[in-house]
Amino acid sequence: MKNDQVLSGKTALVIGGGLVGLSAAVRLQKIGIAVTLFEPQEKPKGASWGNAGHLAIEQVQPLASPATIRGAYAKLFPRGALALPAAQIATWGPFAWRMLGASTPARFAAGTHALSALLAEAMPAWRRLCEQAGTTHLLREDGHFVAWESEASAAKGRAHWRTTDIGTATVRDATPGELAAIGQLAPRAKIAGAIRFGGSGQITDLGALAEALRALLVASGGIIRHAAAEGIYLSGQTAQVRADGVLHDADHIVLCAGAASADLLRPMGARIPLIAERGYHIQSAASCWPHDMPPVAFEDRSMIVTRFAGGLRAASFVEFSARDAAPDPAKWDRLRHHVAELGLPFDLPGEPWIGARPTLPDYLPAIGRSRRAPNLLYAFGHQHLGLTLAAATGEAVAALAAGSPPAINLAPFDPARFGDMT
Ligand SMILES: Cc1cc2nc3c(=O)[nH]c(=O)nc-3n(C[C@H](O)[C@H](O)[C@H](O)COP(=O)(O)OP(=O)(O)OC[C@H]3O[C@@H](n4cnc5c(N)ncnc54)[C@H](O)[C@@H]3O)c2cc1C
Repeated sequence: MKNDQVLSGKTALVIGGGLVGLSAAVRLQKIGIAVTLFEPQEKPKGASWGNAGHLAIEQVQPLASPATIRGAYAKLFPRGALALPAAQIATWGPFAWRMLGASTPARFAAGTHALSALLAEAMPAWRRLCEQAGTTHLLREDGHFVAWESEASAAKGRAHWRTTDIGTATVRDATPGELAAIGQLAPRAKIAGAIRFGGSGQITDLGALAEALRALLVASGGIIRHAAAEGIYLSGQTAQVRADGVLHDADHIVLCAGAASADLLRPMGARIPLIAERGYHIQSAASCWPHDMPPVAFEDRSMIVTRFAGGLRAASFVEFSARDAAPDPAKWDRLRHHVAELGLPFDLPGEPWIGARPTLPDYLPAIGRSRRAPNLLYAFGHQHLGLTLAAATGEAVAALAAGSPPAINLAPFDPARFGDMT
């Protein structure tokens, strides 16, 4: 859109003020659509703010893959980072069955093709969003490391990454100096090898980003309402949002409520197989981890360590569960154990956090227009890549609302793949 005012007079209700919702909201407002954002939390604490901060443009291969299925048993908690709590089998059982169906070689290849195109847009879109929000200083574009603690795992890991499609990212061996720097940060472990990715990046302060995006939205005329949407209802072929017991109308309703999104669609009869794929982190306020060290994934431990402006964060685990199930404190203990074994500069026990990745069985997000209500736009299901893809998704939503061609083909992300009630 050339002109910010071109769609003036149009309105949008954006449901969810995580990164996907905020990105969509500021892009919509920028093209002249009057946005009201519904977000119940006054202080951000969802997945958008507790993640590892890694702009993971290299992860073009969906996790719904033959390799994930083959390797699942070995990754089960407590040996590995995958948790399928027995008490939650009614939640993850049907999801696992669908994921199996989405993991055929043909669907994996199609998913890789689709994610590659979307991830190629991720960094350019982040540059534009940070420029618009005055937060270019929060965007780092100097890659990340993957490190291993034995010669055998280093050889296996290197071979894996050298033969894996990583889209527009690059990868090379860590230099001796880089290897020594990682070794100094993990002095109780032997760092046997590491690789450095290029093209990937980091957001250095998620809290500051949240504040800047909210301030930008409000300064450009948008409204933030700290209220929960109660559901999406149909009136003929038009979607309406119930909030505060009242049905609200808008030219566009954008559903970006993360792992809560599927529940909000129930009143209109849509059944979307979205699961809460929960992750855990611990964060230490003070740290001598250098500010310029990019995120380091300790792959043998399935743990990523990131230096943010506010401290050092160690994150891990994929726990398939109900959104509101009680957290498992053993997982925070496991993270503390990893941190202590490596000897990272971390003030234990650290602040614990849990949050839910919104995940669909094919590990592709739902970005597109409802078939039943053309004023309803979907933007959720970003699984492990919601930070990475937030800015690109915001742009795609704005293009859909404006009726202009999106930067990439959105057909693979069409929510209609989950049935004609969507
Ligand atoms: C441990 C961990 C590490 C991660 N690391 C990375 C990483 O390094 N890189 C990366 O790209 N991704 C990462 N992710 C994934 C990423 O954080 C998510 O994909 C992303 O945050 C999803 O953003 P979202 O805006 O869709 O959802 P959310 O962040 O969950 O936001 C949804 C918002 O909707 C609001 N909401 C809920 N219900 C309602 C309602 N009824 N009405 C109105 N609003 C509602 C919630 O309050 C919330 O603010 C990680 C996730 C976890 C858990």
